Amino acid sequence: MPKRRPDHVPTRTCAVCRQSHPKREMTRIVRATDGSIRRDETGREPGRGTYICQDQACRDGERSAAAVKRALGAEPAPGTLEFEGAPHATT
Ligand SMILES: [Zn+2]
Repeated sequence: MPKRRPDHVPTRTCAVCRQSHPKREMTRIVRATDGSIRRDETGREPGRGTYICQDQACRDGERSAAAVKRALGAEPAPGTLEFEGAPHATT
């Protein structure tokens, strides 16, 4: 009988800060089978995925795009990494 590990939470490593966080708190970015980079809202999209944590610094457009490109080998389309709640730059 397998040991129950009630305290165990699956974690993933953030592509930007390289820290581990609970998977459910992460945003999954997936490189789909057609090669496009998109956010995986369901967590079940096929393809190679990487994760970005909730840290505001990690959700910065340029940093996250660079991290995704490094992790998945392709550049995300503009807007792919725009997170709701992110502060909008006002100039
Ligand atoms: Zn992070």
